[in-house]
Amino acid sequence: SIVVTGATGHLGRHVVEQLLEKVPADQITAVVRDEAKAADFAARGVKLAIADYNTPETFDGVIAAGDKVLLISGNEFDKGRPAQHQVVIDAAKAAGAALLAYTGAPGSLTAALADDHRVTEQALIASGVPYTLLRNGWYHENYTENLAPVLEHNAVVAAAGEGKVSSASRADYAAAAVAVLTGEGHENQTYELGGDVAWSFAEYAAELSAQTGKEIAYNSVPAEVLVGILTGAGLPEPFAAILAGVDASIEKGELVVSSGDLSRLAGRPTSPISEAITAALKG
Ligand code: NDP
Repeated sequence: SIVVTGATGHLGRHVVEQLLEKVPADQITAVVRDEAKAADFAARGVKLAIADYNTPETFDGVIAAGDKVLLISGNEFDKGRPAQHQVVIDAAKAAGAALLAYTGAPGSLTAALADDHRVTEQALIASGVPYTLLRNGWYHENYTENLAPVLEHNAVVAAAGEGKVSSASRADYAAAAVAVLTGEGHENQTYELGGDVAWSFAEYAAELSAQTGKEIAYNSVPAEVLVGILTGAGLPEPFAAILAGVDASIEKGELVVSSGDLSRLAGRPTSPISEAITAALKG
């Protein structure tokens, strides 16, 4: 069967939904921490496994020989994600999984955020388990789910200069993961995934202006100013610094992905950022 960790997260939900369109529900195992959060999956016949990356023994028996597994990277930055991910790698190896796909970050990304992904990818390759590296670029939703301050101040603030981002929707990245989990020939492959169109923050501000009828400007600031703004808005300093580091990478072009892997795996063009803006403004 197909085993998906992080199944009750934003990306995991898209993956399970899209898997349900392709395979019978009883061939899908959703790995979740909170059973109640997955009640809708269970009601539709998806198998649930209750497990936590912080408690290795909870993964005993979750994966069976021949399973294809999607390890969706965790979000507990303070708990040592490489060690958490290692728990799933070890479980997949012990069980004899046919494939372990891992959602990482673009190979070009040097920002600190990418370190955990690089460590996990190396551990996965070293494990000998057949792997697929799904190097996810940025989500549209990183931006469009945070429009309130933009609309309040009529300004997109970033420390990315003229840099561009090849973002795509979570649903697009989920489609690539589903293609790998349900298709053949993805063993020991690395996919650099990103949207078909790279946009700059000036272009993003222009699209927001067009859709809202307001004049929304791009305000490019130095990294330390961005950190000040983000901590002023209540973000912890280390996290603000990580986000500023990402913007510095964007300025250097490290989040432009031009492989075409995402639309090729999904079998269709990726969705444009304008669509995500429209959805967010309606929501
Ligand atoms: P979410 O935060 O919505 O989901 C994270 C998932 O990881 C949740 O299902 C969560 O479980 C699960 N999880 C976290 N810690 C543990 C643990 N200790 N044991 C088991 N499960 C755990 O993120 P998204 O779905 O939006 O994105 C998926 C991942 O991609 C993120 O976790 C992060 O690593 C990365 N990411 C990528 C971005 C990009 O632009 N490419 C942007 C942001 C994140 P639960 O549902 O119980 O909370």
